[in-house]
Amino acid sequence: MHSADFIVTLDYSNGRQYYQRGSVKRRDLLTGFVAGGAFTAANAYLWQKAADNFSPNTDNDPLVNAEPVSDRETIHPVAQVDDETVAPSASPSPSAPKTNTKVAVQAESENYLDKVRNFENEFVDDIYLNEAENKIMHSVLLRMRGVERAVGHGNYNLISFDHMLKFASRFSNVGEFEREELDFLEKVFFTKAADYGFLGDKVSTELTASIRQKDTIKIPYSGHYIYRGQAETYYDKLKKDVGDSIILTSGIRSNVKQMHLFLAKAVKSSANLSKASRSLAPPGHSYHGIGDFDVGKIGWGSANFTDKFSQTDEFKRMQDLGYIQIRYTADNRFGVRYEPWHIKVV
Ligand SMILES: [Zn+2]
Repeated sequence: MHSADFIVTLDYSNGRQYYQRGSVKRRDLLTGFVAGGAFTAANAYLWQKAADNFSPNTDNDPLVNAEPVSDRETIHPVAQVDDETVAPSASPSPSAPKTNTKVAVQAESENYLDKVRNFENEFVDDIYLNEAENKIMHSVLLRMRGVERAVGHGNYNLISFDHMLKFASRFSNVGEFEREELDFLEKVFFTKAADYGFLGDKVSTELTASIRQKDTIKIPYSGHYIYRGQAETYYDKLKKDVGDSIILTSGIRSNVKQMHLFLAKAVKSSANLSKASRSLAPPGHSYHGIGDFDVGKIGWGSANFTDKFSQTDEFKRMQDLGYIQIRYTADNRFGVRYEPWHIKVV
């Protein structure tokens, strides 16, 4: 069956009905999870310290493999050491010196910026999934890909957690999510992201939050949606001011879509959650859920999601406009790489 057929079947009244049926099951899961002794206890077996199984050698030593800092990057000053507030105090670095000297602050701050700049490297204090969780992650992602194929890429940007469960069970070639897969999804969503290095806010606290289709507008030729109102006005103005060569490359992303992207990145990162979160906000932490969007140069494809985008005329024009703000700047304190393409709306 062609995916386009499902545009009409994404009926939100059905979704609500399912939500009520599904939510009983969800509450059971949550009760079991919390009763186990809250998240810290659960994390103890879920998230493994990299140090436990990481033996540094020159092959994976980030300091040896670090890319040289380019000229462009040097315009962002490294750590204002006189201002201790710039130190990433929430940084999960138990091995960091406890003494709050200027040197310690500088070292920690440089370590932090080193991670943000060399986001694709591995670092000694990175957090990994254990082997069992890694296996579940693979099966979860496979199932989510099945759902994405079934509903189509456009719709998949918006679907709720309950819709995902519904579609999985409806399609025999996808199949119902198993109990351990649901547990895993909930743990990823509810675990404190700062524990593995992501320092941004949680902007969506409900795993099952749904996006009302009438609040969204599909941007022609993009396959993506933005919210009506503020984001739509913003996008229209940006497009008018920058020109027709700019296009929406990612708009609204539901918790499901963000979960999918995050897990895909975690799989690529060999279950290193810290590394994944340096490139992508963990589910619940993405401003794509509440209004931000990404733009790119038409015809540039995946290069739009690299810092090459900052060399384009389109980006330079955006900078000249004066009103455009980038969510993740080169020296951001969220623990995320520089994203010149990600427009801060909210
Ligand atoms: Zn983005």
